[in-house]
Amino acid sequence: MRWSRFYLYTTREVPNDAEVISHQLMVRAGLIKKVAAGIYTYLPFGWRSLQKLMAIVRREMNAAGAVELSMPAIQPAELWVESGRWQRYGKELLRIKDRHERDFVFGPTHEEVITDTVRRDVKSYRQLPFNLYQIQTKFRDEIRPRFGLMRGREFLMKDAYSFGADAASLDQDYEAMRAAYCRIFEACQLDYTMVEADTGTIGGSASHEFMVVADTGESAVVRCPSCGYAANVEKAETRTVEAAAATEAHPPQALEEVATPGKHTIEEVARFLKVSPKRLVKTLIYETEKGLVAALIRGDREINEVKLLNHFDVEHLALASEEKVRAATGAPVGFAGPVGLKDVPIVADESIRGLTNFVTGANKGDAHYVNVNWGRDVDLADWTDLVLVTGGDPCPRCDGTLELFRGIEVGHIFKLGTKYSEKLGCNFTDEEGNDHPMIMGCYGLGIGRTVAAAIEQNHDKDGIVWPRPLAPFEVLLIALNPEDAEVKRTAEELYAQLQEKGVDVLFDDRDERPGVKFKDADLIGIPVRITVGAKSLADGKVEVSLRRDREKRLVAPGEAVGKVMESLGR
Ligand SMILES: [Zn+2]
Repeated sequence: MRWSRFYLYTTREVPNDAEVISHQLMVRAGLIKKVAAGIYTYLPFGWRSLQKLMAIVRREMNAAGAVELSMPAIQPAELWVESGRWQRYGKELLRIKDRHERDFVFGPTHEEVITDTVRRDVKSYRQLPFNLYQIQTKFRDEIRPRFGLMRGREFLMKDAYSFGADAASLDQDYEAMRAAYCRIFEACQLDYTMVEADTGTIGGSASHEFMVVADTGESAVVRCPSCGYAANVEKAETRTVEAAAATEAHPPQALEEVATPGKHTIEEVARFLKVSPKRLVKTLIYETEKGLVAALIRGDREINEVKLLNHFDVEHLALASEEKVRAATGAPVGFAGPVGLKDVPIVADESIRGLTNFVTGANKGDAHYVNVNWGRDVDLADWTDLVLVTGGDPCPRCDGTLELFRGIEVGHIFKLGTKYSEKLGCNFTDEEGNDHPMIMGCYGLGIGRTVAAAIEQNHDKDGIVWPRPLAPFEVLLIALNPEDAEVKRTAEELYAQLQEKGVDVLFDDRDERPGVKFKDADLIGIPVRITVGAKSLADGKVEVSLRRDREKRLVAPGEAVGKVMESLGR
């Protein structure tokens, strides 16, 4: 492809909404263009990278026995009513009406449509198992779209759905997808890890996420270097965090209310009362669709809201507003406590069970209780694991210590079970003539997000450093002084030879200054570069270099293509 005939415009401007490097570089290197919040055009240069990824995904999905189809983006509301998600999905579901005032959704996912398709075609155990997949545009109306393709509203996703007769069949399909995902991310040359994950709103019994390791990742992940246990912190278990006070349990002292004027935060109260935050019990009031709930945790730890959500079996959970906290506790935010708290279900984290003579809010402005004790002052029945696991916590599987790192979730696989087949009546008849719901798995992979993650992991101060399998072009051929007849002739010859060899080459034949061409070359990050300039050509040489290590080699024009093929590993 000749750059002069291509559509690739770089910019030095960093968009002010671009917080992460992949977003900045995708805009600057002409991969994407914002159309509206969280909605982008994939420009030709970016689209080539996405297409390369999609080719890898298709190759591995097909090799794993999955079969491609394509479902509509616009889906009738009836299917979502049938699955129950029309009522439960919330505002992320883009609901639209057609000219007849009929309700539709722009699909954020396709469990309903695929289950409806299958229930109409498949009746017998003889037709099972199978796995259907598509690569398709989805829409989720994120409240705060950001990070470019990392958390857009409209996005490309590969989603696959397996259907089988029993759990063993689901295990097989799940394992085939797990292995295929590993091959895909390895083929992309990405540093990734597979972690145990929460099943979230999709539901189901088991689930794993594939994380590309990156400091800017939105997901926090813990990993045990001793045994390899890895999990999203939303899901991660830990051996009960040792209650510091349990070992130093003191006889109960008299409950006392103390003034803590203006001390709202754990740190402020702890400093003011001269006690460790570990001796404070934090009381958080949450709003759910079932009403308010209170969660207690040790002062120095955070609540895992996913665990809390699962514990109360609710879909939505958010910290209660100032007004609601005041109505429930009679105090402003920062002074809530379990002593005398009525009409709000309370759950406490296991880690505070052993505390004695601890500190809580007094449900009164500017006041806390000290020397609170379980049983005497608060009688709690509901204890569970609520703690957000972090680096330094003990591994739940061995004696090791968990390490915390950040990752970008690029794939997510679920054992769905019969959640959707039961709701939608997607049944099969077994050998004895009895009906059963089909057992499903679903397997997602973010296309745009994987390319963005590849850039997060592969860049330097000057621009993108593409891993070769995802690079929009493999080779950049630069003619430095295209007005020079000898440069032009040599560059044209090399261009023709590379094309003949089937190399994906971008030929920078633009009428631009050398400085502009070099800056652009670094920014767009094509792995192998050939530079043809009048100066080195006078010595009978052209320059071959790699974007990653920038090592330059001067070779005769006749050897350049051979050198390139060697660099590409062909
Ligand atoms: Zn371990």
